[in-house]
Amino acid sequence: MALMITDECINCDVCEPECPNQAIYLGAEIYEINPDKCTECVGHFEEPQCVQVCPLACIPVDPKRVETKPVLWLKFAQLTGRPVAPEMLFIAQH
Ligand code: SF4
Ligand code: SF4
Repeated sequence: MALMITDECINCDVCEPECPNQAIYLGAEIYEINPDKCTECVGHFEEPQCVQVCPLACIPVDPKRVETKPVLWLKFAQLTGRPVAPEMLFIAQH
């Protein structure tokens, strides 16, 4: 899944620079996440970096964007142009 930011966000700016995919941006009122760019940090880090730093814990998974680990790895490959080993896709499925 991609992650999303809820309206509890206080616009503290902490999460935006931590995103390796530049998926976080300041929206009309609060920070938002572009789901097409969010890989849950797959390919970059073990854990979602925005979740690690958010003081409000207001970045849950987006139930409207259910994505498996292989899909997230493919998204990472598309965003970065970096190859993903086939075995990584296999491992991610199991
Ligand atoms: S989970 Fe990772 S890729 Fe997704 S918005 Fe947060 S920091 Fe960016
Ligand atoms: S770290 Fe949390 S509270 Fe701060 S801008 Fe990001 S989502 Fe909002």
